[in-house]
Amino acid sequence: MNIAELDISHRYQATVRETSRMTPPDSGVEVRHIVLEVDDPTFHFIEGQCIGVLPPGPHEFGAEHHLRLYSIASGRSGEGSQAARFSICVRRCFYIDEVSGEQYPGMASNYLCDRSPGDALTLTGPYGRHFLVPRDESANLLMIGIGTGIAPFRAFIKHVYEERGSWRGKIRLFYGAKTPLEMLYLNDVHNDLGQYYDQETFQAFQALSPRPYFDEPPAVEERLREHSLEVRELLQDPKTYVYVAGQEKMSEKLDEALSEVAGSQEKWRAAKEKLISGRRWSELLY
Ligand SMILES: Cc1cc2nc3c(=O)[nH]c(=O)nc-3n(C[C@H](O)[C@H](O)[C@H](O)COP(=O)(O)OP(=O)(O)OC[C@H]3O[C@@H](n4cnc5c(N)ncnc54)[C@H](O)[C@@H]3O)c2cc1C
Repeated sequence: MNIAELDISHRYQATVRETSRMTPPDSGVEVRHIVLEVDDPTFHFIEGQCIGVLPPGPHEFGAEHHLRLYSIASGRSGEGSQAARFSICVRRCFYIDEVSGEQYPGMASNYLCDRSPGDALTLTGPYGRHFLVPRDESANLLMIGIGTGIAPFRAFIKHVYEERGSWRGKIRLFYGAKTPLEMLYLNDVHNDLGQYYDQETFQAFQALSPRPYFDEPPAVEERLREHSLEVRELLQDPKTYVYVAGQEKMSEKLDEALSEVAGSQEKWRAAKEKLISGRRWSELLY
């Protein structure tokens, strides 16, 4: 998704209905679950889409706006089955100025994380129609993500088990976070994905970072290796759809791991091409 090419002419006013910190205060990373409400009958979304957020100015270097995207974490019938409401999960980001070495708060994520219930904000979108749950309920979904990449998978899982209700294919989630406290929707503070563990078709595998203090990404690829037999079977099954979401930095190690699972780089390249040409491979990397 090229952010500069997105249409932002159609804007919606949203109201913050809830905001809660999902990571404990001592985790060092703040990620918030934010419920928004758009009171406009023309606003519709489906799971897998993102919304755009336009924080108010002034913006740096005379830029007209500072559009940032956030994955919708609710199924299409809305957060808590309230059609006008949906949730996003936002990590409070900072960036280091390359010249001064100083740390500055990221504009959009800090703006969102600082909002309180009742506050209004401006949204655009929703965007994206490539990260979709297939219609075939016997399809397998292999979801692989790290960090805030869990958001579209939460929407998928809610859609499959609450809105569809009769899913027969296997749903497998390989999810990584740096520490147990940063396992979004799967930690002590906020565990709403835990309620799906007793679904026969659902299994989740969690991975942590081997060296969290060196900013090393979670070793989600280790879990794929450990479960290589099942993952290989899934990758060979024409009914499997693969989804990858989260930070871009996961993609290299993921490719390496899936090459091992497939048997060689060539085998994985061929398998991936087949998935892509069959529209069964979708990425949401940022
Ligand atoms: C398709 C898409 C979906 C996205 N979905 C989400 C989402 O569901 N939740 C979410 O929090 N962000 C998501 N993002 C990232 C989000 O759009 C912003 O880039 C992020 O919030 C930083 O924006 P900012 O204005 O605060 O800071 P900026 O000044 O734009 O960036 C600050 C720094 O934060 C880094 N950064 C950006 N996103 C993350 C992240 N999630 N985790 C760690 N570091 C990051 C950037 O590389 C940059 O160095 C998504 C991005 C895309 C393209």
